[in-house]
Amino acid sequence: MSIIVQKYGGSSVKDPAHIQKVAGLIKTRRDEGHAVCVVVSAMGETTDDLLAQARQITATPSRRELDMLLTCGERATMALLAMALHECGVECISFTGSQSGIITNDAHSGARILEVRPYRVQDELERGRVVIVAGFQGVSYKKEITTLGRGGSDTTAVALAAALAAEACEIYSDVPGVFTADPRVVADARKLDQLDPDQMLALAAGGAKVLAQEAVAFARERGIALYARQTGSDDAGTLVRRDGPVGHNTVALAHRDRVLTLTAPDPTQLWTLEQTVQKHGAQVSWAFAGPAGGILAVPLDDAHGIRDALGPDVALHDEWGTVTVTGRSPAYIGGGGPVAARLLSAGITAHGMLCVPGAVTALISSDDVRPALQGLHDALRTEIN
Ligand code: ADP
Ligand code: ASP
Ligand code: MG
Repeated sequence: MSIIVQKYGGSSVKDPAHIQKVAGLIKTRRDEGHAVCVVVSAMGETTDDLLAQARQITATPSRRELDMLLTCGERATMALLAMALHECGVECISFTGSQSGIITNDAHSGARILEVRPYRVQDELERGRVVIVAGFQGVSYKKEITTLGRGGSDTTAVALAAALAAEACEIYSDVPGVFTADPRVVADARKLDQLDPDQMLALAAGGAKVLAQEAVAFARERGIALYARQTGSDDAGTLVRRDGPVGHNTVALAHRDRVLTLTAPDPTQLWTLEQTVQKHGAQVSWAFAGPAGGILAVPLDDAHGIRDALGPDVALHDEWGTVTVTGRSPAYIGGGGPVAARLLSAGITAHGMLCVPGAVTALISSDDVRPALQGLHDALRTEIN
């Protein structure tokens, strides 16, 4: 039996009409002869809306209760999609993360998947049913409901694809694939047909949320072919796979408009700070050492509760963002110098630069992020095309 795992993101299931459209797409795939397991996100902006409601009640919501709240979003979608499939005459069943056997640690709001026991999913697929799974959630060994961090439905999909030995994992969103920069910001960004997982990881860490970082890491580790595609489009999308023949000199950019920066007067404090933010569910953080001390930058989405956990000598602000240049071309990526020089020539000062193999990240003022992204994309045009 050839199993396909598909994941539909929030914009693809934003209202009942969109859910009905997705049901039609799933039916087509099933009629082609595949066993289909579908992972869904919460509808539209539901997760943000639920978070905002919690914040109206308290500035410091319990992370356990936040997980109980946020997992409702994906549960609503799974049930509505099951109803829509029933209406199309497709036999199906919906499962929560817990019912699908997604076992995690107990780090609420940023839990890691420890194990997948997909017995019920397998049984139902074998019975010829489409299985719909609520993304972004699991259950700990203590039977606590957990969430996997923002964008975590992608991770659910890849973990299930691995556990089911699926032929492919298709992540559907509102863009036709992975581009050389966010196509909503850089109008002339180019779609990439294929991409090396290492470079995709660097892009995701830099803020390219089209594929979640942990999902890409999981797919790379398990050798799963991961496709980024647009819902309802015939475009083949972008294939992220290790053995890809192309892409070695592709340069691609990512950005975050705002990050939370933590500045400690003594750079040796960075290590302790990093451990604290990781304990609070931050999946990515960058450490920059500079004349003013040590700076740690954390994506805002991951910043729940971090403010309260830090001592008074740590200064916090959110007026800076990041641009990240990824690729393997040594002239641009071998050091931060060329990137910093290009930023400087555009009148943009980097407050910190971080160079790792395959990626350079510059910490710059939020207002500069979008001009810097477009400017670097223009300047690197030869490498990008
Ligand atoms: P979903 O809600 O379906 O999970 P996301 O919003 O998480 O979708 O991801 C899709 C978005 O990712 C796009 O709308 C696009 O703005 C953004 N994005 C950022 N960087 C890139 C990139 N390099 N290529 C494609 N899309 C990107
Ligand atoms: N609904 C969750 C989020 O908005 C998970 C996801 O969509 O992947 O982050
Ligand atoms: Mg997403």
